[in-house]
Amino acid sequence: EPTATDSEAYDGLRLRQVTKSFGSFHAVSSLDLDVPRGSFIALLGPSGCGKTTTLRMVAGLETPTSGSITLAGQDITYAKPYQRPVNTVFQSYALFPHLDIFENVAFGLRRRKRKDVEQAVREMLELVELESQARKKPAQLSGGQQQRVALARALINKPEVLLLDEPLGALDLKLRRSMQLEIKRIQTEVGLTFVHVTHDQEEAMTMADTVAVMNAGVIEQMGAPADLYENPQSTFVANFLGQSNLIEGTIQNRAADVVTVDMHGIGVSIPTDRCHADGDKGWVGIRPEKVLIGEPGEALDAPGNTIPGGVVTDVSFVGVSTQYLVRMPWGQELGVFEQNTGRRRMFRPGESVELSWRPEYAFLLDFSQDAS
Ligand code: ATP
Repeated sequence: EPTATDSEAYDGLRLRQVTKSFGSFHAVSSLDLDVPRGSFIALLGPSGCGKTTTLRMVAGLETPTSGSITLAGQDITYAKPYQRPVNTVFQSYALFPHLDIFENVAFGLRRRKRKDVEQAVREMLELVELESQARKKPAQLSGGQQQRVALARALINKPEVLLLDEPLGALDLKLRRSMQLEIKRIQTEVGLTFVHVTHDQEEAMTMADTVAVMNAGVIEQMGAPADLYENPQSTFVANFLGQSNLIEGTIQNRAADVVTVDMHGIGVSIPTDRCHADGDKGWVGIRPEKVLIGEPGEALDAPGNTIPGGVVTDVSFVGVSTQYLVRMPWGQELGVFEQNTGRRRMFRPGESVELSWRPEYAFLLDFSQDAS
């Protein structure tokens, strides 16, 4: 259990047991979160999961019902927004339409009567690659450029933490993708702490070095994007980050570090370091791109779990891959993505196939665990 003294020594952003209730409804419940200084974290989750409320409490736009927020060792739980070394970039850029780009970025410094405004603004405009647009008005810029101005304006005071509240939501898909890389580059260059709120899993994984997946007011799981993708701990996370086949199963047998799971009469073995009990029910998760498809009895090169008796119901060729739907003997359709190497023939709807995967690619989800 961390103590108050630990929080005083912690130089990042720390939320401890933060709850925000609206009447009897808990938008955020007993949330613990550490954001190391200089890191880029994404709060990811579906609409209504509490991510914006969390961000607004860090900004000081909402007051927690209980719990504490510290930043660089300072308790800021009840500090006024302007007293916090925190800035926010919103989806609506909120630029001053009558001021040019240079003056929009300079605004915060001029108000504080800072010296060397010229130099600081030039550096910021260079950072966001808008030096040549300095004398234009916001309305003369594209959406992506306006968002970069908003970013420059929020960064010029060198806040301890920059909060990004769905900043790319208003942009079209292509521009979003390029802005994601742009913001990531800027964060690496300035080295400040960024906290980004989004419901777009690809955006969170592209930009952040740590993703916190939120569901119903709590963090379900937090980690590096690849770690979350490869080792989801719940069906919610498995489904929210990418696609996953989820097959009902019952633990049949457990050895030291591998369990056998019965999936509708078919036994598969899955390595695990967790303690499950025989008879426990839950879900086996397997990503479509980790499933191999072959002819019945074909010796596929994965030494692993084989699931016979499939019938192809749909084939979509999408360029980089061929995506199959395969109906299993128990009636469920599983997705299979086969990378398009051009070396294999495509299977056709109605064909009988056999699916297989390497044991370590599957994960056990929502099985109860022994207390031990
Ligand atoms: P979205 O992506 O839709 O913004 P979110 O994850 O950011 O979703 P929040 O905006 O944090 O979700 O809201 C969490 C829950 O709290 C929602 O159910 C919302 O209706 C509720 N809520 C938020 N603000 C208030 C408020 N001022 N009064 C009452 N309920 C609120």
